Amino acid sequence: SAPGRPFWVGTSWKMNGLPDDARSYAERIAAVDDWHGVLPFVMPPFTVLADVARLLRDSPVQVGGQNMHWDESGSWTGEISAPMLRQCGATMVELGHSERRRHFGETDETVNQKVHAALRHGLTPLVCIGETQAERDGGVSDLVLARQVRLALHGLTAAQAGRVMFAYEPVWAIGEAGRPAPPALVAQAAAGIRQELDRAADAPGASPLLYGGSVNLENAAPYAALADIDGLFVGRAAWTAEGYAALARAA
Ligand code: PGA
Repeated sequence: SAPGRPFWVGTSWKMNGLPDDARSYAERIAAVDDWHGVLPFVMPPFTVLADVARLLRDSPVQVGGQNMHWDESGSWTGEISAPMLRQCGATMVELGHSERRRHFGETDETVNQKVHAALRHGLTPLVCIGETQAERDGGVSDLVLARQVRLALHGLTAAQAGRVMFAYEPVWAIGEAGRPAPPALVAQAAAGIRQELDRAADAPGASPLLYGGSVNLENAAPYAALADIDGLFVGRAAWTAEGYAALARAA
């Protein structure tokens, strides 16, 4: 992170968190009395979102959904809308995670519609972007990342663009099959993304840019030290309250 900029540490639980576990996780992090300046957030499954948000209401921890639909209501079986997330106590929403792009047909165009909907309803979107291994091998990573950023922000005013958060998550670095990205590679990609963000937003550095992909307690510090990285977005290593709190402390 650059000096003086806020630093975020967040986690998506992905498809984990039955009610008892979710409540005990939330109670434990609600009890953290000093976040040492870090901005914390958790993204639980929809089924426990309201419970988790209620338990964290008086804490600095923000709560977000892991996805949503762009429409407010209607014939969209199985979907969740921005007003529904808001009513559950969410203030953020993750959009365009690579697992959703890959398995559930999410595209840059649907991400863009969802970004508009999130901002319309007062949710902060966290847009995930990242190149695949084939795209990196083919030398088109920077093009892919620029395309994802520009399409995500399409049609927004510069002021709105500055309110969108991004997470750079190389697809090959995420999840059980992922391997952590070398910090120098992240630095180079983040610098390119930052340029794109600054073209779109009204103030340089307005949009927070997080890093995600196999982050854990051992490898977190070098990512956190990168000038263009404003936070860490963590999966597996933060699926326990202790793991999450330890990462927030380390950052
Ligand atoms: P991981 O997930 O930390 O388990 O690799 C990261 C993410 O998908 O955001």
